[in-house]
Amino acid sequence: MHGFAQNFLCSKHVSYIMTGLCFFCILAPTAVFGALYHSHGHGHLHTHNLESGGSNEEVSVLQQKISEKKEKVAKLEKSIQAYKKKIAAKRLQATSLANQTAILDNRVAEVQLEIEATQQNIDAVALEVRAFELSIEEKQHVLERQKIMIAELLRAIHQNDSKKYIEIATNYNSFSDFYNSLQYLETVESNLGANVQSLRIAKTQLEEKVLEKKNKQELLENFQEEITQKKTDLEERKYAKRVLLEQTQSSERTYNTLLKQLKKQYQDIENEISGIEKEIRGKLQDQDKLDNLKGDNATSLSWPTQSRYITTRYRDPDYPYRHIFEHNAIDIRAAQGTPLKAVASGYVGRARRCSKASCYGYIMLIHSGGLSTVYGHAAKIIVSEDQFVTRGEVIGYSGGMPGTVGAGPFTTGPHLHFEVRKNGIPLNPLTYLIKDY
Ligand SMILES: [Zn+2]
Repeated sequence: MHGFAQNFLCSKHVSYIMTGLCFFCILAPTAVFGALYHSHGHGHLHTHNLESGGSNEEVSVLQQKISEKKEKVAKLEKSIQAYKKKIAAKRLQATSLANQTAILDNRVAEVQLEIEATQQNIDAVALEVRAFELSIEEKQHVLERQKIMIAELLRAIHQNDSKKYIEIATNYNSFSDFYNSLQYLETVESNLGANVQSLRIAKTQLEEKVLEKKNKQELLENFQEEITQKKTDLEERKYAKRVLLEQTQSSERTYNTLLKQLKKQYQDIENEISGIEKEIRGKLQDQDKLDNLKGDNATSLSWPTQSRYITTRYRDPDYPYRHIFEHNAIDIRAAQGTPLKAVASGYVGRARRCSKASCYGYIMLIHSGGLSTVYGHAAKIIVSEDQFVTRGEVIGYSGGMPGTVGAGPFTTGPHLHFEVRKNGIPLNPLTYLIKDY
């Protein structure tokens, strides 16, 4: 530390100190000490404790609250897992209205707990942000204090530096006074070095805290977005149960009839999509039109909507109709009327327009490399079959709100049902969608 101080501040004086003849150093060290005593407010020259300060107590109170919140989250997570197990067990039982209703009840309870857990996470992270703010304030104070002390030391040294030797000599009556001054000076230098070092540490710590606070704020925003979506999940799950009971009039027999109808509707649409896909692709290939698409790499697709919140995953085990067909798509939550964009350049293979709610409206695009994409529950379609569309072009508007045109049966809220197919076979869209558009 001492060596550092010498290098930093006093290299031209080091040799003088060694020989006992430093011009500036022997000058009234009390001036230097005076400055230090003044800035410290107490009688020693130690480096400031970087963690000291009045906000420490507040920070530890916050830390206590944060760990309480985290404990609550851990407990809630356990309860959520219990519901997940119950749901999984119910799914293994025979298909029935009673069973389906029980699953929906559990799904409602599960998402309620998830909302509660997310709220606890929000509270905990908000407290963490506050703790970082206090910590940042404290570090800023430390930094300021260090700067003032160093400035004072340098000023005092500089002032002395300009004095004449004769004045210096007259300041000391004896050799022992002179010698003591030198010793003081070494302490001053040593402390100056320590202060400079502390300044660096405080600056690094401040930067770290600022970065950590920024990360926590981002996390907080994510949790806030999550809770909004989960609250919508809750509404949709409650709604799903209500619709199920209304449509079946709480009768197992009606439920079975509805399932059969749904299965037929699904099969019809599936046949239509795969049939048309094959036919149109053949036609486009004959006309060499698919060669035009080679410039646009369909293996990395842009997102069809602004939203990235997935309500039902590809082959989601929670999909309520899994026992009659798999969910070979992802459902992306999108407000009714959200613009739907072509995920890659291609030709419109099918634009199925509807005029009533029970009809399932959708758009199918044919891309290069055997790929096709399907945009389901479309409320409005603004492209025509055989039309060429470029990546990012708006092709229609989303729907899915129960009772609206193109929504189709059994939807529980506005969303886009999005499929990716290769040679007609559905694949997980998430493996094709680009993370950052
Ligand atoms: Zn879907």
